[in-house]
Amino acid sequence: MNQEETLAAVLSSDELPTLPTVASEIITLTAREDTTLSDIASLVSKDTALSAKILKVANSSFYSFAQQISSINQAVSILGINAVRSLVLSFSFLSMKGGKKKVHFNFENFWKNSLAGAVASKLILERVKGADTEEIFICGLLQNLGELILARTFPDEYEEVLKQITEGQYDALNAEEDKFGTFHSTIGYEVAKSWGFPEVLLLPIRYHHDPLQYKGDNKKIEITCKASYLSDILISILYSDKPEEYHKRFRKEAKKLLGLSNDDLEHILSEVHIQVDQAGKYFGLRIKKTKAIQEILQEANIRLSLMNLDFDQMNQELIKAKIDLENLAAELEAKNKILNNLANIDGLTKIYNHRYFQNSLDNEISRALRNETEISLLLIDIDFFKKFNDTYGHQVGDFILMEFSATLKQEIRKYDTLARYGGEEFTVILPDTSEEDALTVAEKLRKTVDDKVFKDNREDYHITASFGVSTGRPVTDDNFSKSNLINQADAALYDAKEAGRNRVSLFSPKKKWYKF
Ligand code: GH3
Ligand code: MG
Ligand code: MG
Repeated sequence: MNQEETLAAVLSSDELPTLPTVASEIITLTAREDTTLSDIASLVSKDTALSAKILKVANSSFYSFAQQISSINQAVSILGINAVRSLVLSFSFLSMKGGKKKVHFNFENFWKNSLAGAVASKLILERVKGADTEEIFICGLLQNLGELILARTFPDEYEEVLKQITEGQYDALNAEEDKFGTFHSTIGYEVAKSWGFPEVLLLPIRYHHDPLQYKGDNKKIEITCKASYLSDILISILYSDKPEEYHKRFRKEAKKLLGLSNDDLEHILSEVHIQVDQAGKYFGLRIKKTKAIQEILQEANIRLSLMNLDFDQMNQELIKAKIDLENLAAELEAKNKILNNLANIDGLTKIYNHRYFQNSLDNEISRALRNETEISLLLIDIDFFKKFNDTYGHQVGDFILMEFSATLKQEIRKYDTLARYGGEEFTVILPDTSEEDALTVAEKLRKTVDDKVFKDNREDYHITASFGVSTGRPVTDDNFSKSNLINQADAALYDAKEAGRNRVSLFSPKKKWYKF
């Protein structure tokens, strides 16, 4: 829709609110030059309910006249024609509800906000020296009249506009322009014009969003437009979710547009919530107790610091989570190591198991190939161990296996690999070791075992072991293989057993051909 279409639809709509008789008559009357105070007084007096309301407000702190005003006549002469007109219009509008169409628009809230706007405009203008404040209230009250008109005439479209604003898709003015090709300020202005409103009431409606657009030379209209504009910002401190933002903006704009001092601002900011609540009472609107701006700003501040705190906490949580994760990774690595070790370690003797021995022998053979060195292997078997078990029991046998392993381990070099080959058989890989040296090692081990007294809490035990030794140089030995190296050590061990046990036997190739 463009502006003309919207306007045409609004002005011809049967949803266009009609003004109560008194309101429309007072507009006509005040527009005439020959109207007297008593003409106005007698018009208003005809509506006794309205008169009572006007007198109540006239005598309230809202006007704070020292003198008691007891009749409409008095009110008109003391307050002035325009002030009374303002009051008549205010009461008329404040009772305006929705039209025939079903709308979501909340009329009650609309008028509460408008009343707050009226109070705020008045409060602002009262701080401007020499300003005529007679009509600012009604101007403030009606500045957003166009919103109500749009909501009544185009309920569905306006609903969408409100949705777009709440969802932050658009700001209010852009959303209206997009949907209606115009703004509520223009609509309000045109409708009020059709009701015969005087310029002094019309132009503030028209320019309340952009007071500098008023190019006329009427000082009163100019500052009324500015005060209406500022009142919108002021009540946004009260009712929006960004009070700090509007507070800053209000201070800045109020100084710029109306030259208000810090004192003026403090007065306005500390009074507005009190006066909004009072006006609610005088005009018969149920307004929930308004919070003081100071309190609102404090709360906003707390919310902000809470948000920062949340952020800090969040950061800390993240750091903690990261540390936990790192710890977990380290723990996992350690556990993996343990698991790996477990998979490679013999449960009883705590030395390497058969699996590890096989892998280790592969690695050492590769290394011997690369380095062109020799490699030796010992196979060790405890003598008559079956008998030992039979004599002392399996548990003592286990104890011997553990002690035996620990003893051998102490005797070998760091880079030799001792493993449990199985049962009471053990093996030692001796990298870079010649036949001769391997024999020396084997003999040293044999003697150590033979010399050792194994002690548990009950008895002393003595065991012996037989050793088979094989040696190879992978890079030059034609028939070198891992299994040959093992088989040869095994053959030598067999020889040692055969020869009477508790001895070391070296594999002899000659014998090998003989045996295999
Ligand atoms: P030899 O001198 O010919 O080697 O005689 P031996 O009795 O040591 O040999 P044999 O192979 O006949 O018996 C091995 C014994 O080792 C039998 C078994 O009870 C014992 N043994 C094997 N593993 C374990 C073990 O884990 N704990 C205990 N207590 N004994 C074991
Ligand atoms: Mg055996
Ligand atoms: Mg044995």
